[in-house]
Amino acid sequence: MGYIIGYSISGFVIIISIIIALVAQSKVNDAYQTYKSINSSLNMTGAELAEKLSREKGLALQIKSCKGNLTDHYNPKDKSINISQGNYASSSIAALSIVAHEFGHALQDKERYGFYNLRQFVVKISNFASGILLPLLIIGIILEFVLMSGIGNIVIYISIGIYGLALIANLATLPVEYNASKRGKELLFSLGATSEDEVYATEKMLNAAAMTYVAGTLVSLAYFLRYLFLLLAFTRKD
Ligand SMILES: [Zn+2]
Repeated sequence: MGYIIGYSISGFVIIISIIIALVAQSKVNDAYQTYKSINSSLNMTGAELAEKLSREKGLALQIKSCKGNLTDHYNPKDKSINISQGNYASSSIAALSIVAHEFGHALQDKERYGFYNLRQFVVKISNFASGILLPLLIIGIILEFVLMSGIGNIVIYISIGIYGLALIANLATLPVEYNASKRGKELLFSLGATSEDEVYATEKMLNAAAMTYVAGTLVSLAYFLRYLFLLLAFTRKD
């Protein structure tokens, strides 16, 4: 009985965390809309900032422009910083905060920052696992129908596996993102973006983005717990 209550509560947590995720996403968009029209005192574009930091820190990164809105990312495979079109040639506080954050990931990669390596590793396993888990899941469901019993929990085990890996990847993402933002802020401030307004704006931009990762982890945790309670409820020996 307790497990069924846990299962129901986890469903409630999923709904709550999806609402938090939506609110966080709209806060990111709000902050972005506000600060993309306010120029940074640093007087350089996103691309120029990435080039300057890359040169100064001796990273020899490729600086590329990528399609889409807020699609900025660091790619460890070809050591490139990919800046979305709206930020590439923009000198706004929003653009520079985002580029500095992505440069933070490049530094994590160079310094082999523990959580960064962990996240890369888990994402790799998780990609591999989701490739083989879906066929397994389908086989599991077919077997359940054919045998009607016996193998009953396989779908739940597989689901726990999928959501467990996603949860670990999400948990490792939190310190990675927090640390990249911290590095990004320090880099911007070291270059002279230290007026009170700019510090406030940079923090607001990066904190809003961090909230989306927290919400993502909550969703992931709730799904994991949901299948765990389901398993416990099904396998319980009375
Ligand atoms: Zn990031």
